[in-house]
Amino acid sequence: MKLKAGLLALFFIFGILENVFSNSKNENQIQKNQKTITPEFFYNEENSFYQEVAIFKKAFPSVDFRIDYDEEIDDFLLVVTSYRKENVYYWAKGLYLPKSELKNKEKYSIVFERYNEEVLNPEKMTDEMIASIRKFSSKENRTSKIASKFLFNGIFDAWTRRSTESHLLRNRFLGKWQSVHEMLVPHLDEIERQIYELAKSDPEVATFVQNLASADSYSWREIRDSGARSFHSYGTAVDILPYGWTKKITYWGFEKGEGNEDWMLIPIEKRWAPPKKVIDIFMSEGFYWGGYWALWDNMHFDYRPDFILFGKTKK
Ligand SMILES: [Zn+2]
Repeated sequence: MKLKAGLLALFFIFGILENVFSNSKNENQIQKNQKTITPEFFYNEENSFYQEVAIFKKAFPSVDFRIDYDEEIDDFLLVVTSYRKENVYYWAKGLYLPKSELKNKEKYSIVFERYNEEVLNPEKMTDEMIASIRKFSSKENRTSKIASKFLFNGIFDAWTRRSTESHLLRNRFLGKWQSVHEMLVPHLDEIERQIYELAKSDPEVATFVQNLASADSYSWREIRDSGARSFHSYGTAVDILPYGWTKKITYWGFEKGEGNEDWMLIPIEKRWAPPKKVIDIFMSEGFYWGGYWALWDNMHFDYRPDFILFGKTKK
């Protein structure tokens, strides 16, 4: 046992050293990648286990995260206990995979993708970036990886439809009913409180509230590969839609579906979006806005307090 503890201590020291080096590597990589968007641009693999675990602990205080080490496989383990169920994940350089998925490592991208908190402006995009986004969003693109979400199956106790639905609550949010994961409800209450308060003095926010048509969350989708699940099937994503949204430009996929291959060039001011102050309130309660993705989804918010904290460490 002593040997194991000593080894762990040694790994911690190496971990800290690795942090220092990988951080500087990180910055180089980000700077280099800002010129062109490639799959590597989104899936930066230079992340550190220790920083990440600290982020998870802070982001999900009701969940227990314990560190361990598997000598045989030579990898760190994260033991996640949530809703009295224990799940073990292999770090796998940021993939957080159950043992059974280690053999499929190359299929997945890391949990903390490159962070962005700005709408990608078409006016500032190079031809290479446009070509890269076009390729990334094409059906023929078989090279892109699936975001590893196994960790969230443990955090939200959402491995199966039955366990997922056992955590859903009917919630009234900004005057609309939604079916949402129980972990989100206190945060949605706080978002609502702040939006209503702001609407008293801010006409733009007041109009946004008046024009809100729906705020749906849970939607189960049977997907063969659980790694490709949308957070809607966890009840941890919310879509905010205004009345008449079918006539507005809200989501890149609808535009492409209509045959607009140049959907990424649609000027920002022509896309519907919630007021910036509303987006900021969501972000402050752990909801990441889909409008910041290169493949923008302006109605969408993911409950990812870990990802937003990760973004703060990169500033
Ligand atoms: Zn959505």
